[in-house]
Amino acid sequence: MTKQQLFDDIEADEDWLTGLSTDIWENPEVALQEHDAAEALGDALREEGFSVEFGVAGIDTAFVARYGDEGPVVGTMGEFDALPGMSQAATAEPEPIEEGGPGHGCGHNLFGVGSLAGAIAVKRAIERGDVEGSVVYLGTPAEEVGAGKVYMIQDGAFDGLDAVVSWHPGWTNAPNKGSCLAVDTFSVRFEGESAHAAAAPEAGRSALDGVQLLGNGIEFMREHVADPVRIHYVVTDGGQAANVVPAEASMEVMVRAPDRAAVEAVSDRVRDAAEGAALMSGTEVDVTKTSGMYGVLPNHTLGDTILANMEAADFPLSEEQEAFAADLKETLGSPSYADVPADRRDEAAEAAMFTEPLDAPDEGTTGSYSTDSGDVSWTVPLGRFRAATWPAGTPAHSWQAVAAGKDLGTAGMLFAGKVVAGSLYDLLTENELLEEATAEFEERKGDREYESPLPADADPYELTDR
Ligand SMILES: [Zn+2]
Repeated sequence: MTKQQLFDDIEADEDWLTGLSTDIWENPEVALQEHDAAEALGDALREEGFSVEFGVAGIDTAFVARYGDEGPVVGTMGEFDALPGMSQAATAEPEPIEEGGPGHGCGHNLFGVGSLAGAIAVKRAIERGDVEGSVVYLGTPAEEVGAGKVYMIQDGAFDGLDAVVSWHPGWTNAPNKGSCLAVDTFSVRFEGESAHAAAAPEAGRSALDGVQLLGNGIEFMREHVADPVRIHYVVTDGGQAANVVPAEASMEVMVRAPDRAAVEAVSDRVRDAAEGAALMSGTEVDVTKTSGMYGVLPNHTLGDTILANMEAADFPLSEEQEAFAADLKETLGSPSYADVPADRRDEAAEAAMFTEPLDAPDEGTTGSYSTDSGDVSWTVPLGRFRAATWPAGTPAHSWQAVAAGKDLGTAGMLFAGKVVAGSLYDLLTENELLEEATAEFEERKGDREYESPLPADADPYELTDR
């Protein structure tokens, strides 16, 4: 068989694949509540002959679908959660479908189905006897609140996989060869003494003082950390009434840095600052880690495979889709084209859709974001890419991204499905490729072993309370 047959299979399934992603777009469900989406994806895989197991890591909407019982084992991931407050019609003007309702501002309806298309195409090749091995689809919920995949890793969902290729909606077609920031999240609670704020302030010890002093401590610390480090906080409880000295107050603190060691070193300093703030305010403090993630370990071998498949696959953009992209692009204001190399930015500014594959403009960079795919990349060789589902310059989490996700984005989704299928097929058919990707993974990891960054008793359902 040829690679083209995988691509043709996906094009032949265009109607039901786009129907499935439209169903998920029309019924957006936020993190950990994405029951209908998970079920629809799981059902489609079951009908194709995958064995599907739900409830991974105690998360109802996390699932693993597997086809085949021999090696090598290749996999892909699908996200499907929506964002609160992002309801938007598929129109070129801001127009919520349901005021304040959720919407697919990150294109995860396309993400889940594009990966599914890739997994099913590979499964059919295995079934026909064209290729040997197994294919796994990991249904990974709760990306928008953080660490869903980290819980799945902890529960062994990625065990036995030889390589994973995954993608994310965006406005470029490009493999990712860069990294991003590891992160730790803490809940910090101060406890003091309440008292009448005017009549007996000397009897009180303000927990809010503790919070403010820690905030100030972090502000001073900011100057004395290495450049890519980011520290953010919000006050989650600042007391109830100004005439009562608050006995309790709390904040959430996040620390980001390029690797786990750096995150942990800065986090230790934040803990020290919290102790200092408690001392100064005469309160007690409790610092509890609530979540953590790794930065991404890039894999250039898989990035190159992805690029070769991008160059081989058609991007099925219709005239209607392109016309809608042009209308939507006009609403963007002053978009950033920093995702493409400097010499291509004029072109990106001109284009409605920027579909020409680019070779990893992020190579050598550490993006100022965190993703639970980071943990996956420390567990198994992971190839990542972006596919163009939105007009050039569209930021994620914008109303334009939601509007593009219903119909326009399905072109990039089908393209992504082909790139996932082609890359997994290459891994199953070219022994040396899998060996090379694995060797690169081992070399980049060196002697740093992956250890779950989650607290021991972490409950994934508490992620939504953040
Ligand atoms: Zn996303």
